[in-house]
Amino acid sequence: MTPPFRSYVLVSLSQIASNYRNVCSVVGPSIEVAAVVKADAYGHGALEVARVLAAEGARWLAVSSVDEGAHLRCGGIRDARILVMGGFLDYERDALLEYDLTPTVHSLAQMSDLDRAAQAWGKPVPFHLKIDSGMGRLGTRAGASEIITALADLRLAELEGLMTHFASAADYTTKQTDDQLVYFRAICGQLEQAGIHPLRVHTSSTNAIGYGRIDGNMVRAGHALYGYVSPARGDAPRQLLHVRPALTWKAKLLTVKDLPEGALVGYGGTFRAPRPMRIGVLGAGYADGIFHRLSNRGRVIAHGKLCPILGTISMDLTTIDLSHTSDLGPGDEVTLLGREGDTHLDAQQIARVAGTISYNILCSISARVRRVYV
Ligand SMILES: *Cc1c(COP(=O)(O)O)cnc(C)c1O
Repeated sequence: MTPPFRSYVLVSLSQIASNYRNVCSVVGPSIEVAAVVKADAYGHGALEVARVLAAEGARWLAVSSVDEGAHLRCGGIRDARILVMGGFLDYERDALLEYDLTPTVHSLAQMSDLDRAAQAWGKPVPFHLKIDSGMGRLGTRAGASEIITALADLRLAELEGLMTHFASAADYTTKQTDDQLVYFRAICGQLEQAGIHPLRVHTSSTNAIGYGRIDGNMVRAGHALYGYVSPARGDAPRQLLHVRPALTWKAKLLTVKDLPEGALVGYGGTFRAPRPMRIGVLGAGYADGIFHRLSNRGRVIAHGKLCPILGTISMDLTTIDLSHTSDLGPGDEVTLLGREGDTHLDAQQIARVAGTISYNILCSISARVRRVYV
């Protein structure tokens, strides 16, 4: 019996647990692994994933926003620390304290704001300071002396962590990562000299971990937990992680029928049958997260074989070529992402055809697609 949904994903929680253990063993026991469960755990379901990771012993989770952190707390995640990597806006500050979330601070001004909030609440608030070492996105660009001066003014906000983020960790054709590390280490060194020793120092996410660029005593792993490491560019060292995708995405056929040669398929008539064909119409479309860009380009696995998507992908429907089989009918399933026997289609393969990245494919599987946990 298959689940009674037109389109659904199967999430293997044991695969996520095993990926988490693999990350832990690659970084070694002296390095803390913060498990990144932002964006609904990259489409896998934040609460379910967080619960499994907590059961595996994860002491740190990381999310993007205060909202995502509060969601985990309300769902019963009590013991793990939760790092809010995307910082906070003024109106989110109280929720941060209320839900016992640990903010990443991106500017010195925000550091004093947080300190005032901590004083109003009358309790110490640990935070992580993000250094913009060259990514040019979030993080302070202040120099060490300015940081040291600003830290000296704090009363209840406590610098617990110092972090930065790499822009090109899997790219060995540029020295951007080395440059970022030099910059970040210099700031860490100057803070050390001033007697400031944050408990946690972290720079590396999945790609940096995979290619062995681990600095500090904590890492932030997201994509690896879900089974992916980006392919490297250039002359990269051997990839260290052994992780496997945890998510399979299925859709049911609504109908199967024969078309004569010359028939047009879908909006705009962008596909014309070059010969008599058998087609299948799936109950899933771009509203479910099948990229519109895959129209006439993407493939799915039907009856163990890769077969083309025909015509334009609609909001709720996608047409595929079923000429290779007469075994499938209404209610039968095809695999949009996953494997059937030896045939597999993962988020990286789909991303290449859709002109995007694997992260984007996983995060785009919409809320309409039911998550089923195995
Ligand atoms: C999303 C994110 C991560 C996790 O990155 P992965 O490549 O998925 O491991 C780590 N750090 C920051 C700041 C992030 O925004």
